[in-house]
Amino acid sequence: MAECLNKQKNLKKCNCTYPCSRKGLCCECIAYHLARKELPACFFSKKDEASYDRSFEHFCRINKNSK
Ligand code: SF4
Repeated sequence: MAECLNKQKNLKKCNCTYPCSRKGLCCECIAYHLARKELPACFFSKKDEASYDRSFEHFCRINKNSK
């Protein structure tokens, strides 16, 4: 498969600290996490991303009071 044309651009914005081969390949990253009822690291703050809990529940818990 051809390398993603946007990989380098995506990597500049990626906040994920987990060692992972999908880094910068956002379509693969989203598909991987959605299949597990999770969201990618970029949906979380630096602090919350570092927990590696990417579950929908965690996302809802930390955002329940935000508008
Ligand atoms: S958010 Fe998940 S799939 Fe995406 S690069 Fe990080 S660990 Fe990999």
